Amino acid sequence: MAVNLLDFDLEGLAAWCEGLGEKRFRAVQLYRWIHQRGESDFEKMSDLAKSLRAKLAGAAEVRGLPLISEHRSADGTIKWLFDVGGGNAVESVYIPEEDRGTLCVSSQAGCAVGCRFCSTGHQGFSRNLTSGEIVAQLWFAEHRLRGADGERVKSTNDAPMRVVDNVVMMGMGEPLQNYAALVPALKTMLDDHAYGLSRRRVTVSTSGMVAMIDRLREDCPVALAVSLHAPDDALRDQLVPLNRKDGIAALLDACLRYLDKAPRDFVTFEYCMLDGVNDSPEQARELVRLVKGRVPCKLNLIPFNPFPASGLKRSPRERVMAFAKVLQDAGIVTTVRKTRGDDIDAACGQLAGEVQDRTRVNQRLLRAPVRVVPLQEMKA
Ligand code: SAH
Ligand code: SF4
Repeated sequence: MAVNLLDFDLEGLAAWCEGLGEKRFRAVQLYRWIHQRGESDFEKMSDLAKSLRAKLAGAAEVRGLPLISEHRSADGTIKWLFDVGGGNAVESVYIPEEDRGTLCVSSQAGCAVGCRFCSTGHQGFSRNLTSGEIVAQLWFAEHRLRGADGERVKSTNDAPMRVVDNVVMMGMGEPLQNYAALVPALKTMLDDHAYGLSRRRVTVSTSGMVAMIDRLREDCPVALAVSLHAPDDALRDQLVPLNRKDGIAALLDACLRYLDKAPRDFVTFEYCMLDGVNDSPEQARELVRLVKGRVPCKLNLIPFNPFPASGLKRSPRERVMAFAKVLQDAGIVTTVRKTRGDDIDAACGQLAGEVQDRTRVNQRLLRAPVRVVPLQEMKA
């Protein structure tokens, strides 16, 4: 199969172009056509030398992800489902806000971490996405919306304005379990010749892989969100199984080390509010004792989005507010996440619904009796 140019960060593309006997500035031109202009047809890249276009035509392509469906929520949230082959699909969610647009990007088809409250986790792990498949979600969203949403296009010099200003790696999958593909994808998000996003506006959300947090700090520090969900190891072991490996203390130490090089001076802790599980005022106080004075942080309380197989319930609003108040009174900046896109199943942790359906369909197909086609019928 032809090389997918979406797989490369600029360094990778420059090295690949060098292999074709092309100078670095040609790679920059090509990279800008692909990511800034959204172009996938080499023939339309008018300022590329004809000879280069001919070389590209045979060896490479800009391969986006086939779109399965698009759902638009009443609140403006858009969810796209993409086919990644083998009966798997991944989702991306675009969340428009007054002054910015956020894209929630998937890193894996399924997830191996298996958190109790997460629909993707219940689905199990299918495979890692490639860098190209991660970047393709941004490439698609940015250029689809730029084209469709006239207001986003500057009239003065026709230079298109950016539609996506924030990327959060909070879709399906654990990004740090797909590290090799993640880093080049992040680099393309940040590169001024591509999307030029600020490091502060690209967030990796992780269930807390200590060794990989350390590597990310060295290789590509961006904003960090850590899915904490519990104030003690006994509970976190149950909710986020990989906690059994390192434990909360080691995780908080890794967060502190990360902050040395991070573009923001705090870590965001995500905390999914589960009725009667992790939402008591005493647990809020424990959480304060855990993080206060130890890790500069903000707390983001996420209302749980229920799905039948979880057997869990969303905390009532008053309980969430009481929990938030304990944290705020202790001086910890705390926000309660608004749920967006509820009506199209695009809220956090719901991003497996349709995929599961598809998996079920596929399993049904696999189980269907194989019909042996007689030879003469085949010939006819
Ligand atoms: N694997 C990464 C990123 C993807 S999950 C991680 O765990 O951080 C993104 C966020 O959605 C995480 O904070 C996760 O805990 C949260 N989440 C998962 N399932 C949820 C659900 N059913 N309701 C609300 N939030 C959920
Ligand atoms: Fe995986 Fe994150 Fe879901 Fe946990 S919450 S199962 S790490 S996607």
